[in-house]
Amino acid sequence: MDTNERYDVVVVGGGAAGLSAALVLGRSRRRTLVVDAGEPRNAPAAHMQGYLSQDGMSPADFLAAGRREIAAYGVGLTAGEVTEVVPDGDDAFAVRLADGRTAGARRLVVTTGLVDELPDIAGLRARWGRDVLHCPYCHGWEVRDRDFGVIAHPVTGAHQALIVSQWSADVTLFLHTTAALPEDQRARVAAAGIEVVTGEVAGLVIEDDRLTGVRMADGRTVARSVLFAGTRMVPRDGLLTALGAATRPTPLGPLVTVDETGRTSVPGVWAAGNAIGLAEQVVNAASGGYRAGVAVNTDLLLADLDRAVASAESVPIG
Ligand SMILES: Cc1cc2nc3c(=O)[nH]c(=O)nc-3n(C[C@H](O)[C@H](O)[C@H](O)COP(=O)(O)OP(=O)(O)OC[C@H]3O[C@@H](n4cnc5c(N)ncnc54)[C@H](O)[C@@H]3O)c2cc1C
Repeated sequence: MDTNERYDVVVVGGGAAGLSAALVLGRSRRRTLVVDAGEPRNAPAAHMQGYLSQDGMSPADFLAAGRREIAAYGVGLTAGEVTEVVPDGDDAFAVRLADGRTAGARRLVVTTGLVDELPDIAGLRARWGRDVLHCPYCHGWEVRDRDFGVIAHPVTGAHQALIVSQWSADVTLFLHTTAALPEDQRARVAAAGIEVVTGEVAGLVIEDDRLTGVRMADGRTVARSVLFAGTRMVPRDGLLTALGAATRPTPLGPLVTVDETGRTSVPGVWAAGNAIGLAEQVVNAASGGYRAGVAVNTDLLLADLDRAVASAESVPIG
């Protein structure tokens, strides 16, 4: 990345969404730079499941392949964190990095992902992506028929326990800090044969580098080898909201509003992936990035043609 270089597009974030946007932009002959802070959400997991044709690939190999593909079309990629984006008043943005570098961009695609805030339970973070899991679509097949524990979620209650019962008949729901489940969930939990354990969870029991149990605050231990724990998913959308992007309320907190192409309410700014959609899996994030890339290329093309038309009209005739 050259300081003060001006790009057609700067893509902030080089995960599935960002690399996919960059691929279509590079193939559209757009001068494109990806700035990536290098903390993809699924980094703790050894395998990436459910991406058609790449099921089971390691997340690191997936991103390495994506980087090779964008490089083949001349797209630049630099390690760094974008800390600020400032409209420069000339159909463009100044993009500032934490290390002091800057770049100009006519359009922005923000694909900064989200942060998973884990339940505050001793030892849980160290097992994240291993035997403490959040997503049965990502990991359920690999742990099918084992003894599952599920920590009730402050917002969605027993929902995750109900879903994971598709992968095992042995599911225990720990209410932890959730006082009581809503009536409709109680009936479904009973119908699914899910055992409910009341009381706070104090920690995990780890033996030989494997989860073997859940330790309760009252001293009980419940044997479990797999634990599902929903997180508080916090979109990394600070760059977007600082630009004034409109948000909408959702039960899980405000989310930046985008149209079907990923266009935000800020002219010239698109977004994709977990930054604007908490449920996006890798394949969805890549798809959203692709749609944004196509839309940005069209937007640039039409802007240039409109400018050419306007300047031709302003030339005096005769
Ligand atoms: C443990 C775990 C396992 C998972 N397993 C699967 C699975 O098997 N299959 C599946 O489909 N999904 C899985 N997921 C979900 C998957 O991680 C997401 O769907 C996917 O990462 C979303 O892609 P993204 O491009 O939106 O964000 P990310 O992949 O998180 O990429 C965002 C990138 O932007 C960078 N970034 C953030 N802020 C800035 C900034 N200011 N400047 C520059 N760069 C920035 C980050 O460092 C990161 O590299 C899993 C999630 C977790 C937590």
